[in-house]
Amino acid sequence: MATRRANPQRVKLHRSYCVPELAACVGVHKGTIRNWQRDGLEPIDASRPAMFQGAIVRAFLAKRNASRKSPCPAGMIYCFACREPRPPALGMLDYLAVTTTSGDLRALCGDCGGIMHRRIRRADLAIKMPGLTVQFRQAPPRISGRPSPS
Ligand SMILES: [Zn+2]
Repeated sequence: MATRRANPQRVKLHRSYCVPELAACVGVHKGTIRNWQRDGLEPIDASRPAMFQGAIVRAFLAKRNASRKSPCPAGMIYCFACREPRPPALGMLDYLAVTTTSGDLRALCGDCGGIMHRRIRRADLAIKMPGLTVQFRQAPPRISGRPSPS
């Protein structure tokens, strides 16, 4: 399922939110709020149910959205369907040489199964795709390049 970027502006600064209220306010699933807690969103205190201060939520989301603008982390390709960097399914990638020094990485999204692309310099493959299985493929041969029958 596509993940939408939560809009911090919808959170009121001087309000406190419980998990269902906050989820409804920013338009995400309740489980997403728990993920945010794991990622560092602090509740007001340790009491249950957890309450979140609007100003803190806003700061958290603004920081999170900003960090998402950074280039894809190593081992990930941006999936346009998921709108997130995703790991390739089964850790498998195809590399199609476009020039002698760079090519097009193709993989299936590990989350949604869609096709992902990433242009990469061949020299960066080991650094940017560590531990992944890369299949090197040649660009399709030109029509005139058919092997001549003997
Ligand atoms: Zn995807």
